[in-house]
Amino acid sequence: MTAEGVNFYSPCVLVLIALGGNAMTGPDGSARPGEQIAAIRRAAEPIADLAASGVTVAVTHGNGPQVGNLLTKNELAAGIVPPVPLDWCVAQTQGTLGFILVTELERALARRGVERPVASVVSRTLVDHDDPAFTEPTKPIGRYLPAEQAAPLIEHGQTWRDFGDRGWRRVVASPRPRQVLDVAAARALLTAGFIVVAGGGGGIPMAYNADRELVGVEAVIDKDLNAALLGRELGADILVIATDVPHAVVGYGTPDAQPLGAISVEELRRYAVAGHFGSGSMGPKVEAACRFVEAGGTRAVITSLDQIAAGVRGETGTVVTAS
Ligand code: ADP
Ligand code: MG
Repeated sequence: MTAEGVNFYSPCVLVLIALGGNAMTGPDGSARPGEQIAAIRRAAEPIADLAASGVTVAVTHGNGPQVGNLLTKNELAAGIVPPVPLDWCVAQTQGTLGFILVTELERALARRGVERPVASVVSRTLVDHDDPAFTEPTKPIGRYLPAEQAAPLIEHGQTWRDFGDRGWRRVVASPRPRQVLDVAAARALLTAGFIVVAGGGGGIPMAYNADRELVGVEAVIDKDLNAALLGRELGADILVIATDVPHAVVGYGTPDAQPLGAISVEELRRYAVAGHFGSGSMGPKVEAACRFVEAGGTRAVITSLDQIAAGVRGETGTVVTAS
């Protein structure tokens, strides 16, 4: 099948799928190991269908609840086990989620009689050491705590913000991803016929220090913005941002709510500027979709997990193109 000159079922077409929280945790956000595995097992089905259709597939994923849990462990065990920095936490979640994704994708492919190797790449992402996000941290992570429990952590140099009734929550820098440092490894695996998992949790944040050495930094990178960059660096034709809603919606949560279907970057950006998309949720997905297409991607699709295949064909979801 072709449309806009794209033959969808060709190995020449590269689709990057960005999996959101609902692909990795239970319906209520719960993150017991069995629930994480079950969620990933469900998410592997539509991805295996897509791979079985003949396109080349890469996968990236979020890690919010998983990093939150690691931070809580760090806090509670700080007197016994040295706490590790945020870049380590991202690396750890890439490892765990990566091996589960690889295992579940292999299993789903085997059931379809498809022989395709799967591998996960521990991936670092370069950010600017002077990104304004480092002076103005905005990304809330981890659990809510009462003010008196947040106070000693603030004294230790962390930034915590008052979220009213829910309590205080740590906020960290979310700098703009500049370069996916391990993209060559991911590309080599794709060329060798692998399905590749890469760039999980937005990538392990790295920056050059004053001595021009690459070092990990205390930050988290938005997984959708990193997906847009990874997609272009891999030369992906289509980016699918697979979340828990079938479309980006204007007037979300109001009686005038309108799901967006096919839309140009220009029109979508107008809705973004008008404030239609949640800042920590749909906002970065919309921005990622726009960046991917502006950087030369054929289309970016925001849709739900079960609609991935139709989304790739441009038949459902919010389908973002240059014009
Ligand atoms: P993921 O975990 O898949 O990365 P998020 O939970 O961060 O995704 O974002 C998806 C959520 O964004 C939806 O469940 C919805 O509640 C919220 N959202 C905010 N604004 C909008 C909007 N304008 N249209 C659709 N969903 C929106
Ligand atoms: Mg979510």
